Amino acid sequence: MPQHDYDLIVIGAGSGGVRAARLAAKTGAKVAITEQVQVGGTCVLRGCVPKKLLVYASEYSQAFRDAKGFGWTVDWARFDWTTLRDSVQAEVSRLSGLYLQNLTNAGVELFEDRAVLTDPHTVRLVREGRYLSSDKILIATGGHTYRPEETPGQELGITSTDAFLLKDLPSRVVIAGGGFIAAEFATIFSGLGVETTIVYRGERILRGFDHDVRAHVQADLARSGVNIICGSTIDEIAPLAADRKLVTLSNSMRIEADQVLWAVGRVPNTMNMGLEAAGVRLTERGAVAVDEYSRSSVPHISAVGDVTDRVNLTPVAIREAMAYVATEFLSTPTAFDHADVASAVFSRPPVGAVGLTEEAARAKGRKLKIFRSTFRPMKHILAGNEQKTLMKMIVDVKTDQVLGVHIVGADAPEIIQVAAVAVKAKLTKAQWDLTCAVHPTAAEELVLMGEPVSHDNEAPA
Ligand code: NDP
Repeated sequence: MPQHDYDLIVIGAGSGGVRAARLAAKTGAKVAITEQVQVGGTCVLRGCVPKKLLVYASEYSQAFRDAKGFGWTVDWARFDWTTLRDSVQAEVSRLSGLYLQNLTNAGVELFEDRAVLTDPHTVRLVREGRYLSSDKILIATGGHTYRPEETPGQELGITSTDAFLLKDLPSRVVIAGGGFIAAEFATIFSGLGVETTIVYRGERILRGFDHDVRAHVQADLARSGVNIICGSTIDEIAPLAADRKLVTLSNSMRIEADQVLWAVGRVPNTMNMGLEAAGVRLTERGAVAVDEYSRSSVPHISAVGDVTDRVNLTPVAIREAMAYVATEFLSTPTAFDHADVASAVFSRPPVGAVGLTEEAARAKGRKLKIFRSTFRPMKHILAGNEQKTLMKMIVDVKTDQVLGVHIVGADAPEIIQVAAVAVKAKLTKAQWDLTCAVHPTAAEELVLMGEPVSHDNEAPA
């Protein structure tokens, strides 16, 4: 007689939860998964996938302008938000259906309900009122958008979750924040013809990225018409007639807008889940504290993905889930290595980055050779498009290892995936240089950067 109803209950059917549930079921385990909204999670339903589709849509305005230089006339171009919004939602529903199908095919039992822990081995389905017990529990509940509750009128603003479903495309939008979501939605809105303002509290957007990347993206977004106000926050949002808003900034500026988008970060979904009562320790930011095997302070309760607030990216959640199943169900203790995970910002121009930034490498006391190249890609010359590409490599003087690669420009997210293989493999600059160029491409610059723009003296300072 088994002691529990299930071998594994996964709470949350996003990228991490679904992968863990499917793989665990494949080992012969009896697995249930609970989901309170819709199968698919942030990435599929209100993150990466719909965002990327909106970015594609936003790129056409520049493409139409560029086309002129190549002999095309496209002065008939018109944009219809409703068509785009509904097509994107249809695609999201299709993908959610595929996720559901995959769970069913794997033999995972799905409960479309909110689950809370009532003791370390039991969850209660809130709507159904049913109790399910399990040998192991995996928390994969992700995160949600954050709003500064203390800001008067904050409720008049929307979050990225709402932005996908807007009834109408606003004429003017103010975006609060300077991270991934702010840069990407500024790209989307401005590309679709919306007058767009970013309000960021720091000096330069995209904190955490290399300083050259941040400067390049900020300058180019501004050049393409995004108004970027730094060193300021939103103090108040007040309602105006016809659903418009008056936004007052901490520098006393006032801006009128149709929509205000809060893009000021996300927080882990751990509230009111019975986690602490079950003995699961949370971090200061409310994430589930886990060890390198994703185990919480209660050994049979683990957590993967954004709810652990490690590296909050979909492919990371998936790899953590795979490592979890190997550890717990295949007797192969596996810790996912979070070093050198590449990331991309789908801004205009887009960013691809992997490994150490120049600042992070210097903070580690490394002596560095910095290679940097800024150039106008071939396609942009005939187009009369001023957007330039930036490529930067951070190389360790002592070992010649390429510690980081940072790209801003067309196709940067595609290029960085392959560069990430070389950085992860700890290849040296000499090995990169042995690779023959592919011509004519922008990416060839990565194997052609001969002279460093700066070269630290090898002797200790
Ligand atoms: P980020 O953490 O990237 O950025 C949050 C921004 O809001 C920062 O600029 C931050 O400023 C600012 N901020 C935070 N709190 C306040 C506040 N109280 N008042 C004013 N400004 C504030 O979060 P996002 O919401 O943009 O994205 C969440 C996460 O989702 C990302 O970190 C990433 O992990 C993931 N994501 C990944 C994407 C991708 O891979 N392409 C796309 C979208 C999201 P400061 O810099 O000073 O801290």
